[in-house]
Amino acid sequence: MSDCIFCKILNGDIPSATIYEDEEFKAILDRFPANEGHVLILPKEHSANIFEIDPQLAGRLFTLATKIAREMKRILGFEHMNVMQNNGTVAGQTVYHFHLHLIPRYENDSITI
Ligand code: 5GP
Ligand code: ZN
Repeated sequence: MSDCIFCKILNGDIPSATIYEDEEFKAILDRFPANEGHVLILPKEHSANIFEIDPQLAGRLFTLATKIAREMKRILGFEHMNVMQNNGTVAGQTVYHFHLHLIPRYENDSITI
């Protein structure tokens, strides 16, 4: 998708802070983090959102999310996390390339998701 910002990140046209990568997925730091350590997991295959993504791919993405979340917890030392995934404008989706948010939560951080 030529006009998709996450496809541009995935093909290297836009730089990103990559924390994990394999054949199917890339995990990056959010450019405008809701909280310290906010990570996005992107499938390399473009689909707009939950209404388009291959269900098997979504399953593998969530399996990967459990592993990345535990590694983030170990490294950053937090005890709480929001896992978020928005679909459609009204639901808060701003980038139409499926992605999962991993947002660490800290005592008294007072952020609103
Ligand atoms: P959505 O609102 O679609 O669920 O989430 C899109 C996310 O992408 C937002 O949290 C936003 O901060 C992040 N984002 C937007 N543009 C960029 C970018 O160029 N690089 C990175 N790393 N994150 C971005
Ligand atoms: Zn895309």
